Amino acid sequence: MVAQGFTVDLKKPLVFQVGHLGEDYEEWVHQPIATKEGPRFFQSDFWEFLTLTVWWAVPVIWLPVVVWCISVSISMGCSLPEIVPIVFMGIFIWTFFEYVLHRFVFHIKTKSYWGNTAHYLIHGCHHKHPMDHLRLVFPPTATAILCFPFWNIAKAISTPSTAPALFGGGMLGYVMYDVTHYYLHHAQPTRPVTKNLKKYHLNHHFRIQDKGFGITSSLWDIVFGTLPTTKAPRKEQ
Ligand SMILES: [Zn+2]
Ligand SMILES: [Zn+2]
Ligand SMILES: [Zn+2]
Repeated sequence: MVAQGFTVDLKKPLVFQVGHLGEDYEEWVHQPIATKEGPRFFQSDFWEFLTLTVWWAVPVIWLPVVVWCISVSISMGCSLPEIVPIVFMGIFIWTFFEYVLHRFVFHIKTKSYWGNTAHYLIHGCHHKHPMDHLRLVFPPTATAILCFPFWNIAKAISTPSTAPALFGGGMLGYVMYDVTHYYLHHAQPTRPVTKNLKKYHLNHHFRIQDKGFGITSSLWDIVFGTLPTTKAPRKEQ
């Protein structure tokens, strides 16, 4: 296909523009604009409002659901020593989904109008404006929709009484992931572990975007061979 030559006007709402980039979208979306100020998505104030999520909405909305899920398992006869390993199992399974979602869904290659538009809304916007603090964590509506397949998976791989605790563990893993992701972008970590995680994730944004998909750890990048070759950006600067 011939290059479209379409130019995105950053001063106008972006969502219905990016589709016109066609094959150029992939390159455009991976050229980050690292300003604190986010772009306008929609003309309509109503739709614009729905794209904005404060980071603390994630723990405030979803931690009570985690507690509720665990309490359902307890009311169905599970003891605490049974529940603790199941919750940890849920967190561990989430880390796998975190990797798979980020690598295969969020980084799916698109070039059609609606393909680009959907990609921009799901993850492209975060790569274009990585410091837009109101478009970093999952909007609660998106998480709520994702709950359905995840609940079915939890039911399929556990017993009726442990399924809620497993699902709750997975959701706790998700909350930890999204809060960590926000922290890595907007905090100045001082401890070596968090410092390295930040460096690891900024490397995914600013240097090698098809490597380093893990946010809370590099475990699955190691397992699936997507560990970036040079972890330390300072070496090249
Ligand atoms: Zn990404
Ligand atoms: Zn991408
Ligand atoms: Zn990020």
